[in-house]
Amino acid sequence: MLETIRKQCPPPAAALWESIDRVEVFSIAMRVRFRGITVRDGVLVHGPAGWGECAPFWNHPDSHSAKWLASALSQATKPLADQGVPEPKRHQIPVNTTIAALGPEEAQARALAAVDAGINTAKVKVADKPDCLSEDLQRLEAVRGAMGPGAALRIDVNAAWDLDQALKLLPLYDRAAGGLEYAEQPCRSTADLAVLRRKLQVPIAADESLRLDANPMAVRQLEAADVAVLKVSPLGGISAAYEIYKRLEIPAVVSSALDTSVGIYAGLRLASALDQLPYACGLATGSLLQEDVIEPPFRPVNGHLLLGQPVSVERIPPASEPLRERWCQRLVRLSSLLAS
Ligand SMILES: [Mg+2]
Repeated sequence: MLETIRKQCPPPAAALWESIDRVEVFSIAMRVRFRGITVRDGVLVHGPAGWGECAPFWNHPDSHSAKWLASALSQATKPLADQGVPEPKRHQIPVNTTIAALGPEEAQARALAAVDAGINTAKVKVADKPDCLSEDLQRLEAVRGAMGPGAALRIDVNAAWDLDQALKLLPLYDRAAGGLEYAEQPCRSTADLAVLRRKLQVPIAADESLRLDANPMAVRQLEAADVAVLKVSPLGGISAAYEIYKRLEIPAVVSSALDTSVGIYAGLRLASALDQLPYACGLATGSLLQEDVIEPPFRPVNGHLLLGQPVSVERIPPASEPLRERWCQRLVRLSSLLAS
């Protein structure tokens, strides 16, 4: 596959692959449907600095997906010390559990399992389909009931609401949750987040505003968020994400993008470098995948993931030939975009 990519890329794009020595496509079944998918697939690349992961979802346009490739290639080829990322300030990273858009019983069971793993923060997916208000509120009540009054509950709206809906709905969600730690990206527009932040008591976190907008710094300019959600791959790599963090000057939560342990390690390494880490990170997503690429995969102990050593991939759940071919073509396109 590597040879095909090098051959099909125009020379400036082929140069990106010069020091890469392995490219592997993985395909992993999910334990629960999440973000509308049941199988997670992507590419792992290996180079002189180790392994990198490039797994943009298939509904992501090339313009955004190119950053995921930039992230994987920098992870595999450039030591972090050369990229201005500080040495780890901490090795234990507090993590939250992620509750998918489940019914109240299942949500409660997942929340109880998290409590057993010492986790005290839950991120609850909401607004994932039309007319789901009462289901969402029941889910929040169930999670609060399972985790107790001391737990932190946050919701991720994934930009599903317009400003009027958010103004009306956020107080209802806040009440059902018994107080929200924050609401992640309730509206798509950064300007709307700024309005919500001024009008409501619920703290606001920015995710899509940072990774999909041409100017992520609008979050700072408009004072649109209390918390920045940093995802290594969509932001273009650990150093790119760290750079955004420094410029935003607000607390950050590092989250995964349903990564294998290669991507999780990158997230942990970013979280280890931040000046402060006042919130639990969304990096305990490994259990959403049925398999992983290292043994044992990253799993929380006492509510924390341990940074450890850079991941050395042991086994790669294989992809079908048509899927490998599809990724090969996508990587050629993304390389050309990156090089231009
Ligand atoms: Mg989000």
